[in-house]
Amino acid sequence: MIDSPQCPWCPTQPDTPEHLVLHWPCHHSHHVALLHSLTALQPHRPTMTDFRGSSTNLNLAFKTLNLTRNFLNNTNQLHRI
Ligand SMILES: [Zn+2]
Repeated sequence: MIDSPQCPWCPTQPDTPEHLVLHWPCHHSHHVALLHSLTALQPHRPTMTDFRGSSTNLNLAFKTLNLTRNFLNNTNQLHRI
């Protein structure tokens, strides 16, 4: 993340990984596509635990990482992590 403690687009929100991948209102269509794809991989709504790769299922962890990378690429935010 960048040095500012606040999201560059949402001044009242902290600039955290959780805000970026779970709550970020910018690029809504990409965000919805990410959550839809993640939900298709597992039976629950994605949480930060899923993004931290805590799963012992390496195939699931790799797919989650790939989807997250695609989201960050599509929204030009890969440089923020
Ligand atoms: Zn924001």
